[in-house]
Amino acid sequence: MRSFSPVHVIGGGLAGSEAGWQLARRGVPVVLHEMRPVRSTAAHKTEQLAELVCSNSFRSDDAQGSAIGLLHAEMRRLGSLVMRAADAHKLPAGGALAVDREGFAAAITAALEGEPLIAISRQEILAPPPDWDNVIIATGPLTSPALADAIRALTGEAALAFFDAIAPIVHRDSIDFDIAWFQSRYDKVGPTGSGADYINCPLTRAQYDAFVDALLAGEKMGFRDFETATPYFDGCLPIEVMAERGRETLRHGPMKPFGLTDPRRPAAKPYAVVQLRQDNKLGTLFNMVGFQTKLKHGEQARIFRTIPGLAEAEFARLGGLHRNTFLNSPKLLDATLRLKAAPRLRFAGQITGCEGYVESAAIGLLAGRFAAAERLGERPRLPPPTTAHGALLAHITGGHIETIDSSPRSFQPMNVNFGLFPPLGSRAPRGAKKQALCARALADLEAWIGAAVPQAAE
Ligand SMILES: Cc1cc2nc3c(=O)[nH]c(=O)nc-3n(C[C@H](O)[C@H](O)[C@H](O)COP(=O)(O)OP(=O)(O)OC[C@H]3O[C@@H](n4cnc5c(N)ncnc54)[C@H](O)[C@@H]3O)c2cc1C
Repeated sequence: MRSFSPVHVIGGGLAGSEAGWQLARRGVPVVLHEMRPVRSTAAHKTEQLAELVCSNSFRSDDAQGSAIGLLHAEMRRLGSLVMRAADAHKLPAGGALAVDREGFAAAITAALEGEPLIAISRQEILAPPPDWDNVIIATGPLTSPALADAIRALTGEAALAFFDAIAPIVHRDSIDFDIAWFQSRYDKVGPTGSGADYINCPLTRAQYDAFVDALLAGEKMGFRDFETATPYFDGCLPIEVMAERGRETLRHGPMKPFGLTDPRRPAAKPYAVVQLRQDNKLGTLFNMVGFQTKLKHGEQARIFRTIPGLAEAEFARLGGLHRNTFLNSPKLLDATLRLKAAPRLRFAGQITGCEGYVESAAIGLLAGRFAAAERLGERPRLPPPTTAHGALLAHITGGHIETIDSSPRSFQPMNVNFGLFPPLGSRAPRGAKKQALCARALADLEAWIGAAVPQAAE
């Protein structure tokens, strides 16, 4: 049997864990370098691999009508460790795939520790040593400063930064269920839900107006030096910033009341609703959906306790904001995620400019497969751009355009979404476009898997 020198994966988060697993499954040895617990980040709390630093949701699990659900399905089909662990530790969350974060990370850690081809090294890598010929850098949005400096020196590009955000978590037994009630929006059951997975706190118009006023007046956390010139990422805006954009903005965003009716008061239509989603397996903790914030902690507790049902709320965790680090990938990376200026280095995960746990893991999956193919003397095969993997990869490595009008634009992180997919050749019937895109993706993925005849590398 041939033996290979190892591929070095730096970072044991969502992307690095998946990349290491994919390499080992192809018979390629791996050294997975994770700096925790020797050194931690601003968001990680444990030494587990693939720790979820904020929400416990992998978002919609609908593979027929949502791009993220499609990505789940494709990853399952491609033997993803992250999806295997998520499925094994899922929690009820309506149509979403939510996971028990401790069980999930423990399962990933155990699988990687138990894999004979993977050696786990707990050390911070300051810069990839020159004798590592095949490296995957998956150090995430909170890449350690020394390595970030080394990457900057290699790429010649300043890393861009923006804010990500943490939503508060509330102890369930501190919520007043004379006011709040359980219900998923439109009673949607989903794969593991009951149709009543969210806790809903209703606001009248007067209560909503007072809440918006409190958000606007509330004291915010100061910006640190490195954050001052950083724009907010639109998908993760703090609630007080949303409130600043217009009094009705929250009512059409995280506080939308549609599809939610208190069965005890069916005639009383709330003007706005705050939803809380289960956060741990025991069902004792619930997070406030979409309530990322930069309000000071004392202000958060004071203002959120004005929400009906949360007057006595006990917070297991309050909200916060974090920096992100990502490359100008369309310019810097080739089609298989290698740094054009130093092709022995490949990038994976959020640092490439994808956004989200699942997207980071999916890009890790591809990076692992590409690196394995190289090590095995095969030519890495790109997934079809009609698949969720292919669409996301194309966005990162070339789908982005620098300018779409006369104003300067820059590459920004992106969740997977149908806007990244090539349009359908023929017009789908009204309302069936998403389903058609999903069906095409899954068929093309099967053809891609079926055509996996290794070709010699050039
Ligand atoms: C505060 C915050 C909240 C977020 N919330 C969400 C959310 O709710 N939902 C969502 O979908 N996405 C969220 N994201 C975005 C993103 O999905 C996650 O950050 C995700 O974990 C990214 O996966 P990754 O593998 O790229 O990085 P990570 O999962 O962060 O993994 C990177 C790993 O590299 C290690 N590392 C860093 N530098 C070094 C080094 N020099 N040497 C060795 N190891 C190193 C780190 O310790 C870490 O374990 C959030 C991001 C942040 C920062």
